[in-house]
Amino acid sequence: MIDTRILVTRSSMPSFDEYTAEIASLWESHWLTNMGAKHKKFEMELQKRLGVSNIALFVNGHAALECILEALQLKGEVITTPFSFASTTHAIKRKGLTPVFADIKPDDFTIDPASIERLITPRTSAIVPVHVYGNLCDVEAIRDIAERYELKVIYDAAHAFGVERYNSSSGEWESAAAFGDASMFSFHATKVFNSIEGGAVCFRDSGLYDILNGWKNFGITGPESVEYVGGNAKMNEFCAAMGICNLRHLDAEIAKRKVVAEQYYANLSNVPGIKLLEHGEGVRHNYAYMPIVLEESFGATRDEVFDALANEGVGARKYFYPLISDFDCYRAIYSSDRTPVAKDVAACVLTLPMYADLMSEEVDRICEIVKRCK
Ligand SMILES: *Cc1c(COP(=O)(O)O)cnc(C)c1O
Repeated sequence: MIDTRILVTRSSMPSFDEYTAEIASLWESHWLTNMGAKHKKFEMELQKRLGVSNIALFVNGHAALECILEALQLKGEVITTPFSFASTTHAIKRKGLTPVFADIKPDDFTIDPASIERLITPRTSAIVPVHVYGNLCDVEAIRDIAERYELKVIYDAAHAFGVERYNSSSGEWESAAAFGDASMFSFHATKVFNSIEGGAVCFRDSGLYDILNGWKNFGITGPESVEYVGGNAKMNEFCAAMGICNLRHLDAEIAKRKVVAEQYYANLSNVPGIKLLEHGEGVRHNYAYMPIVLEESFGATRDEVFDALANEGVGARKYFYPLISDFDCYRAIYSSDRTPVAKDVAACVLTLPMYADLMSEEVDRICEIVKRCK
């Protein structure tokens, strides 16, 4: 029997031969982790790709986020969005800070600057916005608020690797790492670009370099010196090698995802009651996800569409539902009624399968199942 199931994503991999060629030298060096040759090479290639001078690699994006929050010595309240993956709020909470949830914008689901400003108190120390689905936040408005209230801005850019924006004043394309005091990227297997597990933080203040790198290796800064109470969050050589290989194919992968996205848009953009996100002018998107919003006028609920797809072996995801503020571990302290736009979106959004090798017949089949629900 042919397996016709379609999962929501499929990890990108280089060819077996390309990967084994990249890791062959590890059998000569026997250097498997602790910032070896692959780690250094990957870090340099990422610097080039993202156009940054300061970057630190981590075992995963979550550890990178926790570490930069700690390194910036934040205190008190941190304003963030409930429309994200658990990691964003968990990192804030696990660093002893108090997450405060702002609402999102109805057009691109990123954090709403007006909502941020209403929540600022004397205890606020930072903002952690998320470039959700790879949609860049309103970085100018956020920068303006941060300057006026002297707040740090740490972007969760886990979805935004490969996204670029045209800067009309410099005349150059800038990566998602160009904004705020720091940006965290995730290279998890399910992301547009992966190193199996992995992550990085790009940061503006070069003085943070030693702290971040010390922190990921028990705070060890020299053969006989341990300066920080650090943890262990080092990226190993095999993951770095996977990242090096996958980076070579990133542009081709994004180009293929774009073709898949265009086919979804061609199939669904004129269906009454289905809303698709727009990517805006002057942005090179990464097509990380394929979210659709099933409005009331569509005639079937998000859950009905989800079930119909599941019945036909298609794995969509209710991403992001529930809102973080509705998680079991948070709902006693927060109410999603205070972020009404996020609450509405979480109830009717569905992300459809999206990966570079998704075939055009498969996209058509998925769209047919969705349209049949109305
Ligand atoms: C994946 C993800 C993370 C965490 O990254 P890991 O590399 O899995 O630790 C954080 N925030 C968002 C929005 C994510 O999607």
